[in-house]
Amino acid sequence: MTSVADIVARARERPRNLSVDDLARLVALEDPDEQRVARAAAYALKCRVAGKLVSVRGLVELGNICSKDCLYCGIRRSNANLARYRLSVDDVLRMAEIDAAAGYASIVLQGGEVESEANTAFIEECLRGMAHLDLGVTLSLGEQTEAVYRRWKAAGASRYLLRIETSSPGLYARLHPADHSWTRRADCLAALRRCGYQVGTGVMSALPGQTPEDLARDIVFFGDRDVDMIGMGPYIPHPDTPLASVPNPWTDADRLRIGLNMIAATRLYLHDVNIASTTALQALAPDGREQGILAGANVMMPNVTDVAYRRQYQLYAGKPCLDENADQCRTALERSLAAIGERINYGARGDSAHFHARIAAGGLAGSGRM
Ligand code: SAM
Ligand code: SF4
Repeated sequence: MTSVADIVARARERPRNLSVDDLARLVALEDPDEQRVARAAAYALKCRVAGKLVSVRGLVELGNICSKDCLYCGIRRSNANLARYRLSVDDVLRMAEIDAAAGYASIVLQGGEVESEANTAFIEECLRGMAHLDLGVTLSLGEQTEAVYRRWKAAGASRYLLRIETSSPGLYARLHPADHSWTRRADCLAALRRCGYQVGTGVMSALPGQTPEDLARDIVFFGDRDVDMIGMGPYIPHPDTPLASVPNPWTDADRLRIGLNMIAATRLYLHDVNIASTTALQALAPDGREQGILAGANVMMPNVTDVAYRRQYQLYAGKPCLDENADQCRTALERSLAAIGERINYGARGDSAHFHARIAAGGLAGSGRM
């Protein structure tokens, strides 16, 4: 078996210098010493690309109304056990002010998937209303037509996060109802690229039936699509969803380990992309997000949504920070980052270094591999 030290040495030479077998080995690592070697190398690469700084974007959970029925998600259309809400434009602008006042310089607007003129116009109004704050704006609002993506870009959004969820169409089909299409999701990623966004994607790990090879191919998919940002995290069951009753071999410790291994393997494979250390890691361990940074991630997304709404936006069981307001979250984050020798990159939008390299190399269409 190839040693982890060998894999890491090859990974350092240049991006995309690992095989699917190498990546599968990294993703499945169980030995604590081998995990340490892989994570330390990934963290060194993170420090080379981004310094000892973490780029922060406040997360606004716009609403839990969704037309989709993903079998794993707590806010899926068929879950009748929650009150549905959508923030008003005024709410969103107030939260954007809080985000800007905190010095984060970037914001993420995320919510259920709604395809309607009213929703498109609502997002445009939010974007135009916050233009004076000069924030980097990421949208995460699911599959839309290219025309809608263009309207939101014109209104001020600069980044879009659309997780492919899994690069395996077969596994995707087992996680979604028959009318949800992997191909449409992949086509949306291509449309976002054509629109000139910094494009983000990602997957869930530790899904029932998922193998280390599946996850290795996910990382190769990120490279083949030449994406700029990665937002991925472990799958965590939600009791009111069909997938929660599907037998699953993973313990919480496994989910955390695999989630961290995925971050390290992705950093070692892609080098200069932005990688988020997501809340799902924090749900599995109080310092899960900090462990994510030490495994190679460079972005965090603390919640700036009003506390009153947070319980209604629970994608999985055990969502953290349900009762901490934005200020308390920031103070706690500053302290926990200081404990690992890192700082919040205040006042900087924290664009993906890969995005700028891609634009310098070939314009908006990048490498053309989409
Ligand atoms: N609706 C948009 C979409 O699906 O792209 C954006 C919001 S959606 C809630 C954001 C992400 O939450 C999804 O891409 C999915 O990966 C993640 N998610 C949903 N249910 C989850 C669960 N049970 N465990 C971990 N992540 C989950
Ligand atoms: Fe809706 Fe996104 Fe949840 Fe799927 S993952 S049900 S699209 S909010």
